[in-house]
Amino acid sequence: MRLVLLGPPGAGKGTQGSRIAKRFGIQQLSTGDMLREAAAAGTPLGLRTKHIMDRGELVPDEVVIAVVANRIDQADAANGFVLDGFPRTLLQAEALDRELAARRMGLDAVLELEVNEDVLLVRIKGRAEEAANQSQSVRRDDNPEVFKTRLKAYRAQTVPSLNTTGHKDYSRSSTVCSRLTL
Ligand code: ADP
Repeated sequence: MRLVLLGPPGAGKGTQGSRIAKRFGIQQLSTGDMLREAAAAGTPLGLRTKHIMDRGELVPDEVVIAVVANRIDQADAANGFVLDGFPRTLLQAEALDRELAARRMGLDAVLELEVNEDVLLVRIKGRAEEAANQSQSVRRDDNPEVFKTRLKAYRAQTVPSLNTTGHKDYSRSSTVCSRLTL
């Protein structure tokens, strides 16, 4: 099974993606996690993208497309995957189509998490506080200022390109409320 999980920052893509992955025995592929790991390891990819993520902006399409194309070929993704946070632009959606078609694969569903924006801000603050209380590292982009940029990127780049251009898979995405247990 191959799924795409979309939603604004702080909607719970990571949490729901992990539940979905366990339930269906597939791999969770989070572009945010992959980029954060690259940044932490100081790889060329990480060095190139870290400052962009810290500002809350989107990493260039060609970079993230190459990361995903490479990742879906790894053995642990052979049984299927849930892409968490990819695609976020029309170019990414089209590239995913091409990459899957080249492998004679397709998407089974696109799920979009919908959460009220006021609730998102409260969650982001809570997430940062919780991490700090547990002495875990706080994501550098989990602060109200950067969060506004992340939300703006979602509204300006992701929502219009995926929802209003009528891309075949995304225009029929199922909208689910992330308060529900998937
Ligand atoms: P969130 O959706 O909560 O903002 P993610 O962990 O999914 O968090 O992403 C964190 C950051 O990683 C984004 O703000 C962006 O800089 C980068 N990123 C992740 N996925 C993509 C993507 N598909 N395209 C461009 N940038 C991405």
